[in-house]
Amino acid sequence: MIAPGETIGILGGGQLGRMIAMAAAQLGYRCHIFAPEADSIAAEVSAAFTRAQWDDAKAMTAFAADCAVVTYEFENVPVGPLTVLGGVPLLPHPRALETAQDRLNEKRFVADLGGTPAPFAAVDSARDLADAIAAIGAPGILKTRRDGYDGKGQWRITTAQDAAKLDLPAKPLVYEGFVTFFAEFSVILCRGADGDIRFFDSAHNVHEGGILSLSTVPAPAAVLEQVPAARALAAKVAEALDYVGVLTLEFFATGNGPVFNEMAPRVHNSGHWTIEGAVTSQFENHVRAICGLPLGGTGLAARGVEMRNLIGDEAHDWPAILSDPANHLHLYGKAAARPGRKMGHVTRLTLG
Ligand code: AMP
Repeated sequence: MIAPGETIGILGGGQLGRMIAMAAAQLGYRCHIFAPEADSIAAEVSAAFTRAQWDDAKAMTAFAADCAVVTYEFENVPVGPLTVLGGVPLLPHPRALETAQDRLNEKRFVADLGGTPAPFAAVDSARDLADAIAAIGAPGILKTRRDGYDGKGQWRITTAQDAAKLDLPAKPLVYEGFVTFFAEFSVILCRGADGDIRFFDSAHNVHEGGILSLSTVPAPAAVLEQVPAARALAAKVAEALDYVGVLTLEFFATGNGPVFNEMAPRVHNSGHWTIEGAVTSQFENHVRAICGLPLGGTGLAARGVEMRNLIGDEAHDWPAILSDPANHLHLYGKAAARPGRKMGHVTRLTLG
């Protein structure tokens, strides 16, 4: 067990790290952020900050020496440089990172465990893409296998003729069939060091332009019907990876049951509602899990919860948001409100 007062290392310096650090501080831990960017919004609320490139072994070794445990808030941390963490535990285990960093591996891994992803095929050339479209059909989405997020690195393909005109990036890709869904939802679980698994309520998630816009709990009844099967798959994934911490799986709710979209080996935007809306937040439970503490309750703390992201300029509406006393406002402290950038979120509880 890692007791309060010890230091938790966090790889990545964005808003997820910031909210993990804030939950850790409440439990009496110090946090040390390791990130390449100069203006880390996680470092602003943490005890220490190492600004260095991921492959700076000297900086990583010194960082590890200050930490009792290391976790990550960003799944694209390269795994190779983490060997220098030495005896300091990295949780969740790096296998979770390796699995989730590559969309193709992730889909194969989940399919092997009995999950249903959209039909998919690896694409490394124009010929592969033509073959994939012939086998799977169009419309579909071509995605980079690595480094994609919030709809970045994705191309919608309506016809095989469209695909022929595409100037393919020189990166490994995956083509997947377009899924007809009536809703999107996520399963967020926390698995303790002792194997104890707790699920948060599943949020109904609405995306705009590939970016999460709104999460609502409880989800509509037609989505809730699909949650048990989705949870069973998420638990299998967690067990197969001997996972410790918060794990997220995103699903499409379809007429044929839940279709797996992607997983994130970390706390997730669709779980931000848990800060006010659950007995224990996803951030606190992640800290509890990686420190070997008992997990907190994951039940709802209200009748209903709604979390809306503040993207780009929407964050400038903070005075109006605060004028409604029912709103919980979270701003991440990012300097520039660029379009598509997640600047904060607002949570509202339905009480009584
Ligand atoms: P992703 O980054 O892969 O989660 O994609 C972002 C969003 O694009 C998803 O949340 C969906 O709204 C949409 N999307 C991605 N893949 C598919 C698919 N195969 N079929 C339908 N919609 C998709």
